[in-house]
Formats: sequence, structure tokens, C-alpha cells
Amino acid sequence: MNIAILSRKPELYSTARLAEAAKERGHSVRVINPLRCYMNITSHQPTIHYKGEELTDIDAAIPRIGASITFYGTAVVRQFEMLGVYCINESVAITRSRDKLRSLQLLARKGIGLPVTGFANSTMYTQDLIDMVGGAPLVVKLLEGTQGVGVVLAETPQAAESVIDAFRGLKANFMVQEYIKEAKGCDIRCIVVGGKVVAAMKRKGKEGDFRSNLHRGGTASAVRITPEERSTAVRSAKIMGLNVAGVDLLRSNHGPVVMEVNSSPGLEGIEDATGKDIAGIIVEYMEKNAAPNKTKTKGKG
Ligand code: ADP
Repeated sequence: MNIAILSRKPELYSTARLAEAAKERGHSVRVINPLRCYMNITSHQPTIHYKGEELTDIDAAIPRIGASITFYGTAVVRQFEMLGVYCINESVAITRSRDKLRSLQLLARKGIGLPVTGFANSTMYTQDLIDMVGGAPLVVKLLEGTQGVGVVLAETPQAAESVIDAFRGLKANFMVQEYIKEAKGCDIRCIVVGGKVVAAMKRKGKEGDFRSNLHRGGTASAVRITPEERSTAVRSAKIMGLNVAGVDLLRSNHGPVVMEVNSSPGLEGIEDATGKDIAGIIVEYMEKNAAPNKTKTKGKG
């Protein structure tokens, strides 16, 4: 197959590993920067040009669209879908998963366990919002945050109120969430490929930090997950419509709760922690499933 990896940085670990795995399996592969693609939007012969050349021979694409370029990046993925190119994660699914509130609402609707979460636009009734999620301690999260930035633990009612007021003063979008204390600063990242959990790791925050992000100095190790955790991860990826997903769970007293479903999960931490060839598993899934016009939405929606 001719595979395109839609990524701005060929040197990133995940991009490089996917390219390597595709080559090892006999495919030709190109890393294409979505921001350098330009497109015509016509009903008869849509095209994609890249650095002065028309892309005509791509069979399948692996979108690795960073959060900061979601808008243009998903438009490029949509155009590939219009051309009938198989995209392992579809544009609508990527867009859906990037909107944290929408994702949580979709998951809640299907009965997936979530931390009790509240959000509001109005600056009034802060106290009621706090009560709604069970009072302090609670977690306040900026919606635009990634890698643990903008995730704050407010341990007392006063702290909760001042953090909320501060975020409001900045006109930031945020949510307030029940603090899952019993997770003890750990979370579980499950990698789902084609409806199966192919790897799972436990991440632990550095001493004194309740956030387990590896970018913040957390550590990761392979973990055995329970059948309930497995089915929660698989169902969450399915609800989002993602063939490849990183599902982040917390182990709460009332079972696994989902924090986030990521459409471009990083491969470095999970391959290191588990010793598994996740990039190879992703390419293998494409080999079995890629065919022209097989993306479900074909760029609709
Ligand atoms: P980001 O998307 O920026 O990584 P997350 O929502 O994943 O933000 O939060 C970062 C980390 O903070 C998580 O990996 C988890 O360890 C911790 N955390 C987030 N929400 C909660 C919560 N409600 N209860 C306990 N810990 C949490």
C-alpha cells in the first residue's frame, strides 16, 4: 500500500515508528504535513496538492493531527475521505474526540462511567456548581489544556471558589470534576486498535503530584486490566468512532471512570512500558481493513 502519515513532524517518535513499521511490512510511506496540503473543493474531482504536486496514489492515511491544528488538519483528513482514501481514524471521530465536553456527553449517554463533571458558562452560582459535583476536593480543568497543564486540584471549598473565579476572570472554558482520590495519582492508558485493547499501562505522577502525565515527570509500567476496564475502553473508542484510540481511565471506588479518549495516542510511553510493537499492530489493522471508499462517513458530517 501507499500509506500517508499526516503529521507535521517526521522526527516525532510516534510518526517515525509508524513509518518504520509500515516500511518493515513492505509498504511505501510518506509523512505529509497537513498544513502544507491545499485542496480544491468540487463535487466532481476533488484533489489534494502537496508542495506543488497532486497526491493521486495514496491508498490509506494515518492521521496524527495535533490539538493545535485540529481545524485545518481535520479538513485535510475529510478531503482524503472525499477522494476515497481509507483513513484509519475518520475526520468526524477526530473532531468529536477533540471536544472534551461533547465527548463526555456522548460517553455519558451510553452509560460509560465518568467522574461526576460539571460545566457552566454563567459566572453566577459557583457554589451550586461546586455542590453539583459533590464539593471540595475537586479538580478544575481548562478545556484547552493538554499534558496536565491547566488541571488543578482544589482541596478546600475556598480554593475551589478562587480557582473557578480566576479561570472565569481569564474567560477560559473549564469544567469541574469530582476528585478521584482513590486513584492515588495513577491513571490507566489503554490503547484500543480495531475494537481490542492491545496494550495498557499504568502511569504514576511524580511524588506529590496528583497528575500522572509522563510529560510532567510521571512514570509508566505495564498493567493487567480488569475485564470491566477492558470493556469500558473498547466501548469508549467505539462510541467516539475511533479505530485507534488512547483511552484514559481512573480506578475509582465505583469502577473505571473515563477521563479522556485520545485520537492520536503517543506510542513512546506505551511501547517502552509494554515492549509491544503498537505501530506494527496499527499498520497490520490497516492492511486488513483499508480499501477504497471504506471510510464510513466518506467525508460527511
Ligand atoms: P490532560 O488531558 O491535560 O492530560 P487530564 O484530564 O488527563 O488532562 O488530567 C491530567 C492528570 O490529572 C490525569 O492523568 C490524572 O492523573 C489526573 N486527574 C485528572 N482528573 C482527575 C480526577 N477527576 N480525579 C483524580 N485525578 C485526576
